[in-house]
Amino acid sequence: MVHFGHMLHQRGYVAATDGNLSVRLDDERIMVTPTCMSKSMLRTSDMVVVDLEGRRLAGNRDVSSELAMHLLIYRLRADVKGIVHAHPPTATGFAAAGLPLNQPLVCEVVIGLGSIPLAKYGTPGTPELSDALEPLIPQYDAILMSNHGVVAYADTLHHAYMKMETVEHFAQIALVTHLLGRQQPLEGEDLEKLKLARSRYQSTGAIQPCSIVAGNDHGRLQTRPTPLRLENAIRTRGKDFRSQLKANS
Ligand SMILES: [Zn+2]
Repeated sequence: MVHFGHMLHQRGYVAATDGNLSVRLDDERIMVTPTCMSKSMLRTSDMVVVDLEGRRLAGNRDVSSELAMHLLIYRLRADVKGIVHAHPPTATGFAAAGLPLNQPLVCEVVIGLGSIPLAKYGTPGTPELSDALEPLIPQYDAILMSNHGVVAYADTLHHAYMKMETVEHFAQIALVTHLLGRQQPLEGEDLEKLKLARSRYQSTGAIQPCSIVAGNDHGRLQTRPTPLRLENAIRTRGKDFRSQLKANS
């Protein structure tokens, strides 16, 4: 949580004391970041442990004011073990413009996240916010919160953080298409193949936001998203896809 808090700050996804993170420790305990602290200054000793009702079990600081949102996600999604909430500027710009990120513009995003819906506005720290998110939580792994920010969650905190990065990166790409005045969304059979691949990856638990491979010409680590695996999967399962598409049509 300290590491990914620092990452959120470094990448400019939060300002001042914005944002919060949590992990599910076991069936009864959640560890959450404290309120009123810059995510760039977090230390392990700052964390707060609460039960599923939000009662503090350990830690000296007050818990994040967005605790109710975290508890709601853990209640509705048994598979979720980590949650990241932040205000990345481009994705939050879409949320402030009332625009969901639901157009299938980039194949990896369709596979990894499906689409990113926009929840209606709710005052932070109140049940309004939870009410706005509740209908979307079961079927989406990242949600734009109107006039507020983004929440992303996954089977680990690392994967939840990666989803946050994917949302912001996709928002930047979507913004460029808006600036260019032209969008060319995936459609038809191409889109169906990606949806099918997504459902297969989900059912095998094989969706990983990315794998890190060592070394490019500059000796830097390079993150490489899923396209190769995706392309291979589509190529090797092409027959399956086509027969399923036919069966579905
Ligand atoms: Zn917030």
